[in-house]
Amino acid sequence: MCRRPPARPPLRVAWLAVSVAAAGCATLGRQAPPAGSVEVQAGGAFFVVQFQPGDEGSARDVAKVLPRVEERLRRWGTFRAPVTVRIQPTHEALEEAAKRYDYAWLRAWARFDTVDLQSPRTWSLLGASQAQLLELLTHELTHCLMYQRAADAGNWTRKGIPLWFREGLASVSAGQGYRRPADEDIWRYLKANPDKDPVADAEDLYQTEADVVYGTAHRAVEFLVERYGPEAPGAVLDRMHEGSGFDAAFRSVVGLGQKAFAREYLRYVRWEGWRGGAVARRSPLVPVGPQGTGAAGDTRR
Ligand SMILES: [Zn+2]
Repeated sequence: MCRRPPARPPLRVAWLAVSVAAAGCATLGRQAPPAGSVEVQAGGAFFVVQFQPGDEGSARDVAKVLPRVEERLRRWGTFRAPVTVRIQPTHEALEEAAKRYDYAWLRAWARFDTVDLQSPRTWSLLGASQAQLLELLTHELTHCLMYQRAADAGNWTRKGIPLWFREGLASVSAGQGYRRPADEDIWRYLKANPDKDPVADAEDLYQTEADVVYGTAHRAVEFLVERYGPEAPGAVLDRMHEGSGFDAAFRSVVGLGQKAFAREYLRYVRWEGWRGGAVARRSPLVPVGPQGTGAAGDTRR
């Protein structure tokens, strides 16, 4: 069970400023400069929402939902740095900001302290609902918090966090299991595609088979939590922050390398372990939890 996060001051949202950027200010790479920004303070986190003309309503919607996202993310600790959410006016602008092209399904891209978000008004004819925005921002900001807990601004891209872990953790954090393939669906996929490995080859399959990659990532993290305890993912992040790369951090917490773990999970799927109910629990190598140093809700960093 996760430890309750420490008591915090009551949730407070401060509409600190709405500003119009002056012509000639610094640009975001090839992106147009933001026309305006809204600052939001919630719990211990600080967010800046930047937007272009026409997205004032989207910026308000994002700002409104951020305090609820922050509440949900407390289980993973606290942000070490402010996060800027940049609302991109079109899908093409998002792909340009993310430097990922021909990903029609992409809606956002997170880095250490930024989230590029396709304007919610463009997600569908009616735009995004608050529930959809809450879910997606919880997912994306889990990435930011994960990077900030595991690393610093200068080395977060060099920690070697594999796709299955970073997407699985964000998906579990955002409660997206209802929309992911189940273990049984993955079992069917593996039977039909015996030469494919959606964990080891996740990067290669990501663009064209996103459903199975995200589903496998989600279920693998669920398996990790069920087998090694809810504190295990946070403990891995903390080990990384102490200086380890992902592989060494994972091995030091779980007791086997991440590739061996992935094989263990895929064996569980192939051998239909999911039909039997609960996953057999094993002890992680290091003490984690309320008495250890890596509890998921631990904010002593
Ligand atoms: Zn993600």
